[in-house]
Amino acid sequence: MIAILLGAPGVGKGTQAALAAETHGYTHMSTGELLRQEVAEDTELGKSADIFMSRGDLVPDDVMVQMVAEHISNFPSEKVLLLDGFPRTIAQAEALDEACTSGAIGLSLYFTAPETVLTDRLLARGRQDDTHEVIAHRLGVYAKATEPLVKHYADQGLLREIKSDRAVEDIQVDVLSIVSGVLNQSNLA
Ligand code: ADP
Repeated sequence: MIAILLGAPGVGKGTQAALAAETHGYTHMSTGELLRQEVAEDTELGKSADIFMSRGDLVPDDVMVQMVAEHISNFPSEKVLLLDGFPRTIAQAEALDEACTSGAIGLSLYFTAPETVLTDRLLARGRQDDTHEVIAHRLGVYAKATEPLVKHYADQGLLREIKSDRAVEDIQVDVLSIVSGVLNQSNLA
């Protein structure tokens, strides 16, 4: 089962996914991490992605779709894949819908927090692309390109909102209970 983690930069998707993966054996796939690895290894893909990432722009859809398709094609349906950072555009979401068998996407967890909280968290994190200017740009790109996915998954009845302006442990409790609830349901079906 695929669980799509949706929400703005800094909302805590990665933190929640890493925790759930560690304690429950879920697989955490972060496209941002995969890209940063490519950059660190100075691969061809990394070199071209770095230009987009350092500006806070999205890496082109075809690159991302190919990267994710490779990872999800053999994923066992009874296990949980936490997809963190993908899809980020309607085109990516449509490609994912096509690549997945019906019912494979079990839910989308939609993490929400006020924008001031997001900015403060990103500035505190201090990654290379976490400067004031790039953060503002990334939030704008998120609103324009990624926010429409909320409706995409709500229309499919897959969206579950998680208020994320709370303690990490409290959010985690909600993440785990929602994911295991959907997992139990799909195993019964
Ligand atoms: P954040 O959620 O804080 O923006 P990520 O680690 O998820 O950080 O992503 C970092 C950067 O990697 C993004 O700003 C973007 O340039 C690139 N990226 C990651 N996932 C995708 C994707 N699905 N489509 C396009 N670009 C992506």
